[in-house]
Amino acid sequence: MHEPLDLPAWLPPLRSALRRLGPRPAHWLFCAFITLVCVALSQLVVSLLGRGDRPTAALIAALCGLSLAAVLSTCVLALLAHLDRALRFTARYATRDSLTGLCNRRQFLSLVEREWSLARRYQTPCALVLIDIDHFKRINEAFGHACGDMLLRQVAEVSGETLRQADVLCRYGGEEFMLFLPHTDPLGALDVAERIRERVLAMDFAWNGHPVPVSVSIGVAVLKSGHVGLDDLLNEADEALHLAKAEGRNCVRAGPGLLPGTFSALQA
Ligand code: GH3
Ligand code: MG
Ligand code: MG
Repeated sequence: MHEPLDLPAWLPPLRSALRRLGPRPAHWLFCAFITLVCVALSQLVVSLLGRGDRPTAALIAALCGLSLAAVLSTCVLALLAHLDRALRFTARYATRDSLTGLCNRRQFLSLVEREWSLARRYQTPCALVLIDIDHFKRINEAFGHACGDMLLRQVAEVSGETLRQADVLCRYGGEEFMLFLPHTDPLGALDVAERIRERVLAMDFAWNGHPVPVSVSIGVAVLKSGHVGLDDLLNEADEALHLAKAEGRNCVRAGPGLLPGTFSALQA
């Protein structure tokens, strides 16, 4: 999914042990351990020297060990907590698009590759839906980039509103969203695509009080026996999207051979 970070080998077991123990018990366990080690060392030194007061040496060693361990443990635990947050943040942004919160293209492809091979192996239907905002560049130019960004967020939200748990929606590129529909036959996929198109059209998007007309063009591709790799499905969705653009935008089109006649019905 994302590149493994090059952490030293001892760090992951330490982090998981700390997580299991909890920070407070780990802190006191560490302090007790260091104090005991210091006391044992003080007794060893007294034995080696052959003189000195054992109880006094033990008391001084315990006090020094405890204060040193308390400071050390507080610093190490704070650093590890910080590292945990940084790793979680990195993992999130390696898989998510920061503007829309959807999964990014890389994460999408890795999730879908697996689903796609399962669908192929067990011959279950699945579909790809490629959604592209129409004339987005013009919207950016007329209303500004901030407006474009807000629109991207809203289209992402609207497109995801009616999906099932297993469906995967991602921001595929600039103003393009890709949707993978497992266990979905051609009619179902067209229905989802058409629903998204209608919802975006009905969005009532406005910027600084000015209504901004928004529509999307959508390409649909479904798994066929001739598809060898996921790329075949992606290319077909892309071709279908080009067709939708060429045929006037604000419409749904599909790859060749998919339910002949359906599109004219959908368009009516
Ligand atoms: P078409 O109807 O043919 O799809 O035309 P279009 O204008 O939507 O497509 P085009 O590829 O010409 O322009 C896409 C624009 O999307 C260009 C780019 O500046 C803009 N864009 C890409 N990413 C972002 C983003 O994150 N935020 C904003 N505001 N704009 C973006
Ligand atoms: Mg585009
Ligand atoms: Mg576009």
